[in-house]
Amino acid sequence: MHDALYNLSATELNRLFVRGQVSAVEIAEAFLARIEAVEPRLHAFLTVTADSAVETARELDAKRAAGEPLGPLAGVPVAVKDNVAVDGVRMTCGSKMLAEYVIPYDATVVRRLKDAGAIIVGKTNMDEFAMGSSGENSAFGTTRNPWDTARVPGGSSSGSAASVAARVVPLAIGSDTGGSIRQPAALTGIVGFKPTYGYVSRYGLAALASSLDQIGPFARDVHDAARLFSIIAGYDPLDSTSADVPAPQPEFPSEPDLKGVRFGMPREYFGEGIDAEVKARLDEAVATLQDLGAEVEECSLPHSKYGLQAYYVILPAEASANLARFDGVRYGHRAKDVADVAEMYVKTRTEGFGHEVKRRIMIGTYVLSSDVYDKYYKKAQQIRTLVARDFDRVFEEFDALITPTSPEVAWPLGERHDDPIRTYAADVCTIPVNLAGLPAVSVPCGFAHGLPVGLQLVGKRFEDSRLLQFAWAYQQVTEFHKVQPPLNTEGGR
Ligand code: GLN
Repeated sequence: MHDALYNLSATELNRLFVRGQVSAVEIAEAFLARIEAVEPRLHAFLTVTADSAVETARELDAKRAAGEPLGPLAGVPVAVKDNVAVDGVRMTCGSKMLAEYVIPYDATVVRRLKDAGAIIVGKTNMDEFAMGSSGENSAFGTTRNPWDTARVPGGSSSGSAASVAARVVPLAIGSDTGGSIRQPAALTGIVGFKPTYGYVSRYGLAALASSLDQIGPFARDVHDAARLFSIIAGYDPLDSTSADVPAPQPEFPSEPDLKGVRFGMPREYFGEGIDAEVKARLDEAVATLQDLGAEVEECSLPHSKYGLQAYYVILPAEASANLARFDGVRYGHRAKDVADVAEMYVKTRTEGFGHEVKRRIMIGTYVLSSDVYDKYYKKAQQIRTLVARDFDRVFEEFDALITPTSPEVAWPLGERHDDPIRTYAADVCTIPVNLAGLPAVSVPCGFAHGLPVGLQLVGKRFEDSRLLQFAWAYQQVTEFHKVQPPLNTEGGR
């Protein structure tokens, strides 16, 4: 029976465990074996926490035997992106700077996962400090796409997405600053959800751009993603931007029905640069939503086209400030053989940071310098406001918006590594949503060129549960999320 455990959803695994049909230790061992079998081809993990996973599982089995209450994720293996703190475990953020750094506390989301009975099996690979859309900026090698191991899985939450897609874990945690949950979810054919800014605590997340960062779930179906979201969301006094709103309780009606729901299709998201086959899958998704009773109409978000440019000013500015703490004194790597403290800073940062991180620190420091501040940083903030206002305006009329998650499918490894602008463009449809702080989910909506395509649904601020209901309705009448990637059926098991 263990052979099939890895194919089950989080909901199914939890049910089997709670009913006593399988022990938590059996689950942990089955998934650790699965990681071992698939990792050589996938490279989704930077650290596997095998010992503590088995230890947690033993405690869960003892709890169940004693008749103690079991949490909503009891017995469910979860992988955590390596920029989210797990107490006592190495946390690299995909950077040489932190190659050996062991963090001494839990992120709030991890604390909540543990309290819910989840079994944390490891830390996943990512672009260095979450800067990237392909996984190729990891200092520890690139994660592969389980649909074609010669292609990128998307990024920056590359390992979290790939491991869920390849049935290595049912659930994973990622972070999304400009698309890092939704874009890899789209490119690997799974569900990725970025909640409203402030809904999920950022305490224990290594900050990239603090005004944009948000933690969220990966799963293979919306139901599982909503379950994970409802556990990690809710007010946290440890994060000053955490919103004091009640924790969400996503509910799913017994029948999918979108009667009376109004979806807008912002025309700027379907123009130039979108692959024709991707566009065709989106058109089919629209027809499916209409079959469920939804009304779909074109609308306009005129300032979104400046979103990418504004983001690549705001993000480097915030990142350069956030990464200033990596100076060889407080955390991680420290250069050797230096004459004085100034040289120590320079050498430490030169050795510790990769290419893309250095590029953004330099841009960020530049746009914040006093002689160009108004020209770049202030202007970018003004654009951000206009982008957000566009969304407010269309949401007076619509309940949710439909866009592609990514204009293209997964590209070959190495193809764009030397072309940062082209890689940045992969997030053209996801970035405006972060600028506005809104919730958005990517769900599989078919295949183009034999590779997964993602449908992005964008919702109103703090209407995350309702947005997930729409996505759930769509999944109830589609089968794309059930198709297994080739990596899962070839060799291994
Ligand atoms: N790809 C985008 C970037 O490189 C988004 C990153 C993210 O969401 N963490 O900044």
